[in-house]
Amino acid sequence: MLFLGTGTSHGVPMIGCACAVCRSTDPRDKRLRPSILVDVPTHAKILVDTGPDLRQQALTHDVTRIDAVVFTHSHADHIMGLDEIRRFNVLQGGPIPCYANAPTWEALRHTFRYIFGGAVQLGGGIPRLDAHDLTGPLTIKGVRVVPVPLWHGKMPVLGFRFGDFAYLTDCNRLDDDAWALIEGIDTLVIDALRQKPHVTHFNLDEALEVIERVKPRRAYTTHMTHDLSHAATNARLPEGVELAYDGLVLDVRVDVE
Ligand SMILES: [Zn+2]
Ligand SMILES: [Zn+2]
Ligand SMILES: [Zn+2]
Repeated sequence: MLFLGTGTSHGVPMIGCACAVCRSTDPRDKRLRPSILVDVPTHAKILVDTGPDLRQQALTHDVTRIDAVVFTHSHADHIMGLDEIRRFNVLQGGPIPCYANAPTWEALRHTFRYIFGGAVQLGGGIPRLDAHDLTGPLTIKGVRVVPVPLWHGKMPVLGFRFGDFAYLTDCNRLDDDAWALIEGIDTLVIDALRQKPHVTHFNLDEALEVIERVKPRRAYTTHMTHDLSHAATNARLPEGVELAYDGLVLDVRVDVE
């Protein structure tokens, strides 16, 4: 899997901020909005979320095909790149299968009214999506995808488990069923917004508590603000825990049919 973006909703650097991390020349301190690509050779390239930086992320990493999109939730930093799907429609000659739960579809239909029948004139075209309701574990072109219900403040959202790997962005609480669904994973990616507590995201200490409980072989934090300098924060993390960064590639074992 590839980290397309590991930043919080503002991205890092943040507009108009002159702090040390926003001005850092370390490329790992440049964080686009959060998204990953799970690329399973011979099976499927699955994109998690269509953030506002999708175009730039696809160009940077030469992503020229997307077999499916799965959505975690409908916050702007996870959906605002949906219009970029138009290019993949042209490249692939058809609609792109998209999977989201009912509240996320409702928000997508509202936010992107022009895609769902509200356009006066098509102009440059509209994204063509094959909309699927995400109600439980599913198989996308032979790749097993298990949604993991998470709490993002008061909002129920989804993380995803692919085989031995789980991606849990935008959360600050797990219920018993979620803990059970991620048992025994090898690689965990977990929301760690910043140092200070927050009402809808795990902070770094809370993320470390989750990691301590799950005990994966390795863990990576994501959705980070400019509070967390890559090099300085990494240096004080426990063994096996690192900050993710844009462009980081991890080999993970997924379940395939
Ligand atoms: Zn800053
Ligand atoms: Zn969110
Ligand atoms: Zn977010």
